[in-house]
Formats: sequence, structure tokens, C-alpha cells
Amino acid sequence: MRLGRRTAGRGQELVWAPESVSKWGKWFTVHIKPRRGQVGECSWARPMSSDRPRAGSEALLLACMTWGRVFARRGVPILCYHRVADDAAGDISTVAPAVFREQMGWLQEWGFRIVGLEELVSLLACHEPVPRRSVVLTFDDGYESFYHEASETMRELGYTASVFVPTDYVSGAASWEEGLAGSGEKLLSWEQMGELAGAGFSFYPHGVTHRPLTQLTGPDLERELRESREVLEDRLGRPARVFCYPYGDCEARVEQAARAAGYDGACGLTPDVNWSAEQLWNLCRMQVLRTTTRRGFEARVTGAFRYYARLRSLVRGGADRRPRDDG
Ligand SMILES: [Zn+2]
Repeated sequence: MRLGRRTAGRGQELVWAPESVSKWGKWFTVHIKPRRGQVGECSWARPMSSDRPRAGSEALLLACMTWGRVFARRGVPILCYHRVADDAAGDISTVAPAVFREQMGWLQEWGFRIVGLEELVSLLACHEPVPRRSVVLTFDDGYESFYHEASETMRELGYTASVFVPTDYVSGAASWEEGLAGSGEKLLSWEQMGELAGAGFSFYPHGVTHRPLTQLTGPDLERELRESREVLEDRLGRPARVFCYPYGDCEARVEQAARAAGYDGACGLTPDVNWSAEQLWNLCRMQVLRTTTRRGFEARVTGAFRYYARLRSLVRGGADRRPRDDG
């Protein structure tokens, strides 16, 4: 499968979408089932070809995890998912339900506790020590498949998560960008969100129109921050005091505006764990992608992924948030 980069301006989400799928890729997807215990154990449900774990990435992850064991930093990872849906062939941000189920099982197997986003924000703000072996689950954009797939799995396990919603698109198609993960799929309705909120899931603003905030000023920036929160709080009847920057796009000016809009914290997309109050206005999150292997997932929840992401970024020459880290 060749991956092609869509053109995107500064701060825009850079999605690597397949241009073509080779015959071999399709054949492997359908017919090759790895032996149990191998990396990519659940590849039965995963797209293959270039999504298969690469030996170099796996070796680098292993080295980073060894390094992470020696120089462990105590912090809480926030995982960032987009869609959990069965049509994973089309987009790297979409994780197959069977893979998601397996990942949640690993968290249970490894003894991780799921912490709420507001609980983490509150601990950081109060300079309290963050708990060990804890993880926060977040989902960007509020796709309707969250209701049918991810939330079902989490409910079975007693897990909760935070979902970030661009309020202008509630119940409508995710059409803010062409070629987007799950284009054509509707976002959650207010009724579905109300039901999920009653079951312990939390909903927070992701802007009104999902525009990159560093490109906005004055009333436009203000509207994205304030109106999204007001609408969400009004419709769901619960406080929504954490923001999520669309595309993880922020700078000091935007962070200041989020603070002035009355939030307690805001999420970005820097791949690291969270341990300090200084991170509250750009909370680190690690994206889980269709290409994330078992080792890559373990590296994320143990925090070692930050070394991997940094090394990859150095090799590529600068910060790179494209969702293409295949570990
Ligand atoms: Zn988004």
C-alpha cells in the first residue's frame, strides 16, 4: 500500500491516506493469520501490507522501552483515539473494533487503572503526585461508531473515556475536511451523548467548527473556545472544563485564550506522559493508530513512546505530528 500525503496548511491535520492497495496487501489481509503471541496477533482484523510491523520500528521501540525502564519518568499517559470501526482499510486513524478490544484487554492484563481526564487535571493543578500504572482514554471528534463499538467494549470492562466534540457537527457528517477519517460517518447525536454521559463517559469541546486555532484571532478564536463549551454544557447539563485543540494546534496565545475562557486545562498532541501543572494547557497525548502494534501500545502506556517519537522526529528533522508513527 502506498501512502500519500494530502496537502495541508500549517496546523492542519495531516492524514496519510492509502492511494492504492496492492494485490499482495489484500491477499495478506484476508489469508494470513499470525501465530499467537507474535506482534500483530490480532492482524486477522488488521490491514496488512505496509501496516505490518516493521523490524526497524519494532527494534527501536524495544530499545526505547529498555531505556524507559532505566530512566522512568512518573507520569500519566493520555491515549488519543479517533475512530473505532470496522472499515479500517481506508484510514490510519481508524482502529478495528477487534484490535481495540484486544488493547483494552492488555490494559487489564498489565494492571492499568483508567483515570478520568478531569481527575488527572485536578491532580496536576493541585501539584499532587500522579498515580502509577494509570491511563486516560480520549476519543477525538465524537464519531457515531463510538456509541456502537468503543463504548460497548469499555462498558463491559467498566472503563470510561473522554470524547471531544466539534459542536457544529453534532448529528451531522464529519465534513470539516476532505478525505477525513470516517468521512461520511455521522457524529454522535445529543441523545446518544446524553445516554453515554449517564453511563459515565465525559464530553468536552473540540471547537465549534474544528478549525486550527492558531489561524484564528479575536472573536473567531473566542467563539471556538466559548461557544463550544456553552453549547455542550447546555445540551448535556454537565460542566465541560477541559478543551481539546483541533489538530493539537496551539501556541502560547491560544493557550492563554483557553485559560481566559475558563477552562481548567486543554489537550494537545505532543507524545509524552503528563506529570506537571506546567503541562495543563497543552496536555500530552499519544495517538493510537491502525498501525500500532502490541509493543507500540505498551510503549505508549509505559511512556517509553516519547523517546521513540523524539528519535523519529529528529530523523525526520523537526517536530512531526503526522499520524504515521507505526510503532
Ligand atoms: Zn479532531
